[in-house]
Amino acid sequence: MFQAKAYAAASASSPLALTTIPRRDATPHDVQIEILFCGICHSDLHAARDEWNRFMPTVYPIVPGHEIVGRVTKVGSAVTKFRVGDLAAVGCLVDSDGTCAACKAGHEHFCMNATFTYNGPDKHTGGVTYGGYSDAVVVDQRFVLKVPKNLDLAGTAPLLCAGITTWSPMRQHKVGKGKKVGVVGLGGLGHMGVKFGRAFGAHVVVFTTSPGKAADARRLGADEVVVTKDPAQLLPHAGTFDFILDTVSADHDLNAYLNLLRPFGNLTLVGAPAKPLAVDSFAVIFGRRSVSGSNIGSIAETQEMLDFCGQHGITADVEVIPIQRLNEAYERLLKSDVRYRFCIDMASLQRP
Ligand code: NAP
Ligand code: ZN
Repeated sequence: MFQAKAYAAASASSPLALTTIPRRDATPHDVQIEILFCGICHSDLHAARDEWNRFMPTVYPIVPGHEIVGRVTKVGSAVTKFRVGDLAAVGCLVDSDGTCAACKAGHEHFCMNATFTYNGPDKHTGGVTYGGYSDAVVVDQRFVLKVPKNLDLAGTAPLLCAGITTWSPMRQHKVGKGKKVGVVGLGGLGHMGVKFGRAFGAHVVVFTTSPGKAADARRLGADEVVVTKDPAQLLPHAGTFDFILDTVSADHDLNAYLNLLRPFGNLTLVGAPAKPLAVDSFAVIFGRRSVSGSNIGSIAETQEMLDFCGQHGITADVEVIPIQRLNEAYERLLKSDVRYRFCIDMASLQRP
């Protein structure tokens, strides 16, 4: 074991503060990474404040962060994928049982025994896993991703969650040319959904509560922008969407969007508000519309997404911050005031 520096929350109402955490010494299959950048996902905030208590209660102290990019500093004797000095990335998953049907099908992110990067049972330490708001992390090579060399590293970190979480359902629903696709909420996930929708050749419509984001939405790749403060703006789109990706982090009216789907259209929820959302059966029975959900993506899909981003020069739009501004960033996230992902420059962790 060695001690790493980290920012942790001691309770649901505590600000995040500097601390030290134990990290395991690299086992033969492990890669040790010096973390250079870590994105701030809204899930980090939900978890730090125990907002998902009914489903996955938070164990304190919690060190959030699952959008990790860094450099390999050590490899175990059985590691073949990485060498010291390589760039490497870690997303939301650090382990799975490898033996269940989901793992065997290449869906380790749906493994009932999957270990998330933070707040998951850590079989090595007997405690919980600690995330990327830290200067180092040690991860089994199976869950470590290769980083395209041509991309900006700060803009690459958010691909590890915001990127894969939008990529995976959009691929599954064959978002592409000739499809009309909606993205609800223009935050970290939403802006990646817009970039991918554009890259796949779909007609992309952004639904935003923030009139000030309309010009950015177009710059990011949207063909149309609907400001949802005025619900009448939704009406001309009724029954026209093939697919809608809902990335909203708070309570909102799902049925207004379900009514925009064409027959057989699908709305996929990736946003995870604290409270359950209501589905009006009339919004889905007419036209046999469906609502479903999606959680991140597999490791293979994540690598495919990273490689695609390398080939197409796609990264997240980031506001890079020192870690000392983490709590302020959380408050701004709650106000939808981020363009479009906060990313921590981990060099700041070494400042006195
Ligand atoms: P974010 O950057 O805060 O973006 C969320 C966006 O939702 C905001 O920018 C805002 O967009 C919109 N919004 C916020 N409050 C709203 C309200 N009351 N009514 C309507 N719209 C509202 O968050 P994120 O990091 O993208 O994460 C979004 C959600 O996805 C979170 O709940 C997070 O936990 C979840 N998530 C899920 C997965 C998964 O695997 N399923 C992975 C990562 C994150 P506008 O300003 O454009 O309205
Ligand atoms: Zn996330």
